[in-house]
Parts: sequence; C-alpha cells; structure tokens
Amino acid sequence: MLVTERTIDREFVERMLEVSGQPFKQCMQCGTCSVVCPMQESTQLTPRQVMHHLQWGQKEALMNTNTPWICASCHTCEVRCPRGIDVPKLMEALRLQILRENKNFVEPFQIDKEQLKEAPQLAFVSSFRKHTS
Ligand code: SF4
Ligand code: SF4
Repeated sequence: MLVTERTIDREFVERMLEVSGQPFKQCMQCGTCSVVCPMQESTQLTPRQVMHHLQWGQKEALMNTNTPWICASCHTCEVRCPRGIDVPKLMEALRLQILRENKNFVEPFQIDKEQLKEAPQLAFVSSFRKHTS
C-alpha cells in the first residue's frame, strides 16, 4: 500500500467512522481478525488489511476489493478483537458506501442462464439484497 497525501481521503475516513460507529483508528494491527476469519482464502484483502486501508483513508482500494462482499458477517473477528472493534459492521458500512455509488457486486442481467436454472431462487434473492443497490 503506497500512502501519499494525495491518496488519503480524510472525508471518507470521517464518513466511515460516522456510518459504522466503530473506532477503527484504535486497531493495533494485531492480525487476530485475519487469522480467525473463515473467508480469508477468498478475499483480496484480509480484515486486518481492510482496517489498515481504512485508517489511511485508502478509499479507492476499499471500493474495489471483494472483501466486504465476501464477508459472511459471522462475527468471529469481532468476538476475538482485543480492541472490541465490530469488523462486520465496518464491512457493512463499506458495502453501503459502494452501493451508494451505484456499483453492484453482482449484476443480475449478467448471471449465466444455466446458473439461473439450477441455483435455488432463495440464493438469488439473498444475493441481490446484499450485492445490489
Ligand atoms: S483483531 Fe482488532 S485490533 Fe487486531 S487487527 Fe483486527 S481489528 Fe485490528
Ligand atoms: S465477520 Fe466477516 S471479516 Fe469477520 S471473521 Fe466473519 S467473515 Fe471474516
């Protein structure tokens, strides 16, 4: 992560603090959240890296990573965090920010027709609720 004055989005940091209500500036980068995360093999940034990017206002990187979408909101990280940070709430705040900018993680009209026939409809409904604006 290359941090320069130009890449730090302070307004984004303030918005994330306000929307999530989580004191992510207090994260001490211990990495416990990443170790316990059951989804870490599928995410582009680990939860610890998400915290780091948030602390440094790296909005662009956070708007383009799959981590907030892949997070299963299992709360394992929150339970183990020594600073009591509700990481899934931050992931939710990131998803809201991305959706507000009209960026869907799943585009309904681009789903493969075979998948549409085979996958349970409930899975699509759940996915659309979480992954589309
Ligand atoms: S467990 Fe908590 S303090 Fe440790 S890196 Fe994750 S968010 Fe930061
Ligand atoms: S809530 Fe999300 S980030 Fe935290 S451990 Fe579960 S899947 Fe990983």
